Amino acid sequence: MNVSDSERVSTLLESEGFEITADESSADIVLLNTCSVREKAEHKLYTRVGQIKPGGRGDKIVGVMGCVAQLEGETLFEKDRGIDFVVGTRAVGRVHKAIRQAVSGNAKVIDLKDREDDYDWTVADKSRHSPYVAFLPIIEGCNKFCTYCIVPFSRGREKSLPASEIVRQVLELRRTGVKEVHLIGQNVNSYRPGTESGLEEFRGATPFSRLLRAVAATGIERIKFTTSFPRDFHPDIVDALDEYENLCNWVHLPVQSGSDRILRAMRRGHTVESYMQRIERIRRSPREIAITTDIIVGFPGETDEDFRGTKELVRDCGYDAAYIFKYSPRPGTPAAELEDDVSDETKKTRFLELEEIQKENLARSLSNAVGKVYNVLAEKTSERDGGHLSGHTSCHKVVNFPGNGAAPGEICRVKITEAKSNTLFGERV
Ligand code: SAH
Ligand code: SF4
Repeated sequence: MNVSDSERVSTLLESEGFEITADESSADIVLLNTCSVREKAEHKLYTRVGQIKPGGRGDKIVGVMGCVAQLEGETLFEKDRGIDFVVGTRAVGRVHKAIRQAVSGNAKVIDLKDREDDYDWTVADKSRHSPYVAFLPIIEGCNKFCTYCIVPFSRGREKSLPASEIVRQVLELRRTGVKEVHLIGQNVNSYRPGTESGLEEFRGATPFSRLLRAVAATGIERIKFTTSFPRDFHPDIVDALDEYENLCNWVHLPVQSGSDRILRAMRRGHTVESYMQRIERIRRSPREIAITTDIIVGFPGETDEDFRGTKELVRDCGYDAAYIFKYSPRPGTPAAELEDDVSDETKKTRFLELEEIQKENLARSLSNAVGKVYNVLAEKTSERDGGHLSGHTSCHKVVNFPGNGAAPGEICRVKITEAKSNTLFGERV
């Protein structure tokens, strides 16, 4: 979501006559996009500001956007760090105005107000992280209020974008040569557009599965979507994947914990059993669907027994990837009121233990791929070997292979010949 915000901000700034540079030293204005999901991410902001303006001094104009901007607001101006303007998560459509005020000498420019009704969600081709892959927000914010999480506070309430607008953008992206769209949101399957959503002609048990079918019907080569919220993961989503080849073989379904007691304390709205039912439905698909997850270790009160449940679940699910995080108390969330009673050391040990199990899962998932043929979207020339192309499968695994005349942007049939740590290697067939 942050990458997507940055892409839209750079689109806006270019259209307002600013020039974007990759060379920080030549920049007059530096705009830092920030994350506050864990404490460590938040600290990075202050480190970066200190590098750009040591001791709060220097010629550059420095602005902060993103979740830290939204949450910290005015306090970012304290301690004379050298921050000149602050733009909240829903004010990104007015960042050019904040910059102009700062440039004309106004101090402490701040805009934390709401998104304008006519906010433009499009990204110019040149501002996209890849010419062939596009991120498309379909829902912003979050209403779930998991007890550990800051996102509902930093990103506000859930708001779905009109389906007709999403479909229009996908058609436009397809026309300009984009091969893969990622429908993104904190919880994409909570998608709920207003009435007259433009989805009436599509089947589906939920607005999200109707949207998937509508986007699939555009004929764009590939559609991925992330993140899915387990409680609301309707089996019809898998039905839609089974029906449309261009919906990709990948579901990101964060479990957070394998203990019902902890899941309840996290207020996730799912149990181990209800989660496993979703996994089983995905596994029953005739397609080989990759499943990835997020896990928090060391939530307040997590015992060895709770953690054993998580290890068991991670083994049972055999995830293709798992993003593991040490619990980090976020001021203002309900969990931050609880004693952070799992020591750092225990958090670290649990993290490493889980990482070890996941390494085995990954090795199994990668070696299963050897000998099979996949469609790989060549996204770039591989950094390590100039002659090789690198891209993703439909199930979101990275594959490197000799291009033999193929160019980035092509979807190639590749037979996997070897699996190494995180990457697959193959040959075109
Ligand atoms: N909406 C997604 C998650 C978005 S946040 C979902 O509900 O699954 C991305 C991940 O960051 C979460 O899945 C969680 O694993 C992690 N995370 C969020 N808050 C955290 C905290 N306070 N400490 C540690 N990890 C956290
Ligand atoms: Fe955070 Fe829960 Fe919302 Fe995900 S669903 S963003 S974890 S509050």
